[in-house]
Order: sequence, then C-alpha cells, then structure tokens
Amino acid sequence: MSYKEIFNTILEIFNNNRKILEEKGWIVSSPHSYEWWGGLKSAEEIIISSILVQMSRWEIVKQAVETMRERGLTDFSKLYKTKDEELYQILKNINFYKTKVKRLKIISEIILEKGLERFYDRDLLLSIEGIGEETADSILLFAAHKPYFPSSEYGRRVLSRVLGVELKKKEVKKLVEDNLPKDVFKYKLFHAGLVTVGRAYCFNKPKCDDCMLKIVCKHAK
Ligand code: SF4
Repeated sequence: MSYKEIFNTILEIFNNNRKILEEKGWIVSSPHSYEWWGGLKSAEEIIISSILVQMSRWEIVKQAVETMRERGLTDFSKLYKTKDEELYQILKNINFYKTKVKRLKIISEIILEKGLERFYDRDLLLSIEGIGEETADSILLFAAHKPYFPSSEYGRRVLSRVLGVELKKKEVKKLVEDNLPKDVFKYKLFHAGLVTVGRAYCFNKPKCDDCMLKIVCKHAK
C-alpha cells in the first residue's frame, strides 16, 4: 500500500471508532464545530486551554476553563482587565499557572489589538512566548478551522510504529499534509485519532491486541 492509501485507511478506522475517540475527549462533529476540542464551546476557550494544557492534565484544565466561562473570563477584554491574583485562584491547580497567566495576558492584548482573524497567523503565533509549533497548529486547526496539522509526540510514536520508520516529531506534520487531502474535518479526525491511540494503546509497551490500528500497523505484524 502507498502512504496515501495507508493514511486513508487509518482515517477510515478513526471514523469507524468515533466512540473511542469521544471517550478520550475528542468529540467528532461538524468540520467547523469547536466541540472537537474536549467539548469546549468557542475559539477563545480553545486558545486559552491550549496554553493551560501544556504540561498539565486535561481534566484539571477543562474544569478551570469552565469556571472561567461562568465568570465571563473567556472574553479576552475581561480576561485582560482581571487581576492576576483572581486568575491565580482559578488556575492554581494547573502546573506553572503564574507563567501561564502572564502568557494569557499577552495573548489577550494581541487579540484585542489585532482581532482574532489577524491573530490566526502562524508566524505571529510562533513569535509569542509559550506558543510552539504544536500549539500554533492546534489553534489554527481547532479554533480557526484552518488546514494546519499539529505534530504531536503521540502522532510521532503511533505513525512511526504503523509505518515501521523512526519519525521525528516535526516530520509528522509534513507527512500528514502530504498524504491526506487538505481538509479540516480529515485533519481534525486524524489528529484526534492519533492522540487517542497514543493515549489508549500505543504505550512504551503497546497493547496491540486491543488497538484499532493493528490491521494496518507494521509493528503489530
Ligand atoms: S497496533 Fe500496537 S504499535 Fe501499532 S499503533 Fe496500535 S498499539 Fe501502537
């Protein structure tokens, strides 16, 4: 099978296993829905959580974002004006929360100055402290619905084993973008599926017998 055929087969497997993806927090929905990202409700919530989730557990981050939503703090103008101490109280269970508050304030200021559409610029995103390639592409794909594929460590490990080649993390993006049609729904589904497989089966000692990708995976054969 060519890489294009393998990638399309993987995509079909992910599509047939939506329930498992949803159990891991990826809500497969319409291409321009925000819900893919853990059931969150807006671009603002995705941007905020993409910063908070770095080196932190998703469950804690989701809870904090819900509290911010209840208090109107997912509105960037309100977030920007809110005292750091109030944000520390909400975010205190998240790793490096003080640094992250500082970053959220910087991001709020940029968005208030430029607007969201101009914020969705990969070079601009990468120039902001705390936004690396994975976070930038996640924002572009899940908040802006633009076809940029995020390279993740889960994606690297899963695809390396499926294809039987040792990939570097940054190679994942190019490989996916070269072998799948430039399509927001497909990119979202593929990313959600890779992360799900990485979290549920593809550990250091992989659980291949249980894995949805075993029929297409070189490592499992
Ligand atoms: S079949 Fe095994 S090695 Fe392949 S992706 Fe699944 S868990 Fe990983």
